[in-house]
Amino acid sequence: MIKAQRGTKDIFGDEIATWHWIFENAKNIFQNAGFNEIKTPIFEATELFNRGVGDSTDIVNKEMYTFSVGGVEKKETSITLRPENTAGVVRSFIEHNLNRQSPPQKFWYFGPMFRYERPQAGRQRQFHQVGIELFGIKEPTADVEVIMLATDFLNSIGLNNLTVELNTLGCSKCKDGYRKSIKNILAPYLNELCNDCKIRYEKNPLRILDCKNENCQKILEKDEIKEIILKDYICDECKEHFSELKNYLDELNIRYSVNKMLVRGLDYYNRTVFEIKSEALGSQSAVCGGGRYDGLVEMLGGTSTPAIGFAMGVERLYNLVNKITPQKTDFFVVSNNTKEAIKLSQKLRQNNKSVEFDLQKRKFTKQLEKAAKTAKYAIILGDDEIKQNFYSLKNLASGEQTTIKNFEELINYYAK
Ligand SMILES: [Zn+2]
Ligand SMILES: [Zn+2]
Repeated sequence: MIKAQRGTKDIFGDEIATWHWIFENAKNIFQNAGFNEIKTPIFEATELFNRGVGDSTDIVNKEMYTFSVGGVEKKETSITLRPENTAGVVRSFIEHNLNRQSPPQKFWYFGPMFRYERPQAGRQRQFHQVGIELFGIKEPTADVEVIMLATDFLNSIGLNNLTVELNTLGCSKCKDGYRKSIKNILAPYLNELCNDCKIRYEKNPLRILDCKNENCQKILEKDEIKEIILKDYICDECKEHFSELKNYLDELNIRYSVNKMLVRGLDYYNRTVFEIKSEALGSQSAVCGGGRYDGLVEMLGGTSTPAIGFAMGVERLYNLVNKITPQKTDFFVVSNNTKEAIKLSQKLRQNNKSVEFDLQKRKFTKQLEKAAKTAKYAIILGDDEIKQNFYSLKNLASGEQTTIKNFEELINYYAK
């Protein structure tokens, strides 16, 4: 027997109703705010992620599904299964010259991503993300729009008790000063940092604050280091941006706390970064991560365009939400006359009703048993019904049976 690959999962049966429900809620919330769905390819040039996610990240260094393809195009190219979707959406934004249209450009997406990680609860190698990206707005209105949509979406799927953790990483002007201070204060401890952090120290020292290594954590907790981390380095413009955002969140009664250790795992963020935690199931788990990436469009070859977005892992959301009970079909046509059953089923489906009929020529009673399990109503088409042109409609929940004169009445009766 050939089994599914480690870290991949078949999603079917009772689970599908909840997946659809999560998707529909995302679609409603984001489309109501003028966001358009975008479906970018599952694979992209490897270089896109090296540059667009950042080569100091675990994603790029350890977790990408990268392979060479030659074949028909003769030239060997390195392609990678997308580990996240921001880089792909930015690539698309640049390729289609969307910067020429009047801002903002607003997208949402839902789809599979791929990371070679150790599989654990809620973490698959093929997993799904839902997210949004908003281009062209440098004002904090974009930040609040994005955070508001994240919390509205989470509320819509029943995740309340949310806390938004916020930080500002500063802009190109003030970020460097902060980096330098972090580097200076950590310099004496360089040898004690984990191997990953030694590389981060050179490439993106802020990411050291994010390290899960116990030893690194201990170093960061030293008073003289904490003091530097918690000190305000950001410039006046960044400060203004951040406080405007906080004011908007206050107006909306969105609960937030500032966490200076929050830097997010990707290299490209600047100014606002955020995570949203949910208290669902008593656990304090992050269900959403996002931030501003004003430099990324330009870094990937486009014209300078501010942007902000977030992503959420759908498997994690799935684990937290109340599951949806799959809907029963409207009708099951119970009949020994298969031809009539098929014809009626088609007619009902063409009238936008969900209908099944017996595909196995089973006995009447067997058909009724099946109907009771899967449908709301049984339409009984016995010899009398066919001969005299009427339907017997059985409510399978109450057992109540009604005589229906013709097709129009059937449709109307059900609509009521
Ligand atoms: Zn700044
Ligand atoms: Zn470390």
